[in-house]
Amino acid sequence: MEKPPGTGARGAARLDAGASITYTLRKISQARRGLPFGRRTSRTMDETAAPDSLLLEVHALSKTFRGLHAVDGYSIAVRRGEIRGIIGPNGAGKSTVFNLLTGHIRPSGGRIVFSGQDITRLSPHRIAAMGIGRTFQNIRLFTSMTVLENVLCAQQLHDQDHLLTTMISWPTFRRREDRLRREAREALRLFGLDDRAEILATALSYGDQRRLEIVRALALKPTLLLLDEPTAGMNAHESAVVLALIRRIHDMFGLTIIIVEHNMPLVMELCDRLQVLNYGELIAEGTPGQVRQDPRVVESYLGQADPDA
Ligand code: ADP
Ligand code: MG
Repeated sequence: MEKPPGTGARGAARLDAGASITYTLRKISQARRGLPFGRRTSRTMDETAAPDSLLLEVHALSKTFRGLHAVDGYSIAVRRGEIRGIIGPNGAGKSTVFNLLTGHIRPSGGRIVFSGQDITRLSPHRIAAMGIGRTFQNIRLFTSMTVLENVLCAQQLHDQDHLLTTMISWPTFRRREDRLRREAREALRLFGLDDRAEILATALSYGDQRRLEIVRALALKPTLLLLDEPTAGMNAHESAVVLALIRRIHDMFGLTIIIVEHNMPLVMELCDRLQVLNYGELIAEGTPGQVRQDPRVVESYLGQADPDA
């Protein structure tokens, strides 16, 4: 019998992973309300916040690179639990927006408020610790580490109890290590990577490295997850699987997500609202249906408008 694309040993592992996702996720979410990787700390969750209150407010954000307006007066207001999309042609400023939100570059102007706190000039490390996780358009994994070590390392980097537990007692340290390892493996299983946990991250296919990047971002226990072209380089089947997983982690954990994605049918199905950037400027914002019909968007990004339409 003909197999659907992407099946075979690895595809089957992914489908199995998909089937066991519900069980694994329910278990984790029962144990630790709201997070794929263990309990949330006060750093990353404001338990008193209303579910639909504003999580991220960006006002008139700008970045100029030697006279080039890469991002020009960008604003967004994101409610908790939303999935938002940013689309636009190459060079429009999408990755620069993410780099500004995560402190990787300093804005030329504007203001970023996350969870009620001004984070405009904070370091990437502080911002990550406050609960903004991200993936990069160009994959950034630790090349000399295994798949599992990449996830463990991300967990360690953002677990402030680490040094303290190490100093306090060896059994406490061991228990914590076991817990982190278990959680890392559960997350890898969720993304169909657990059967390759012990191989070098660089030995993974390109698509799987992208999935590992998402698992690693989740290890930060984010409340807001920024995904920069998570399906770049994947075939249609792989892209659909990854976007289904993104939807699932959103639904299960109430994550707020902003995604930059070129796959139009998928991003339109996934996102509550879309923004369109062109030459650093926001040229449209609305529901996928509204954006799809916006003449400026059609002209600048989705293709030339049909004169007879
Ligand atoms: P997108 O992600 O939408 O494709 P980018 O945000 O990567 O676009 O880039 C927006 C513009 O800013 C491009 O013209 C790019 O060349 C420029 N740019 C981005 N990062 C830098 C940088 N670090 N130094 C100089 N120019 C940059
Ligand atoms: Mg980009």
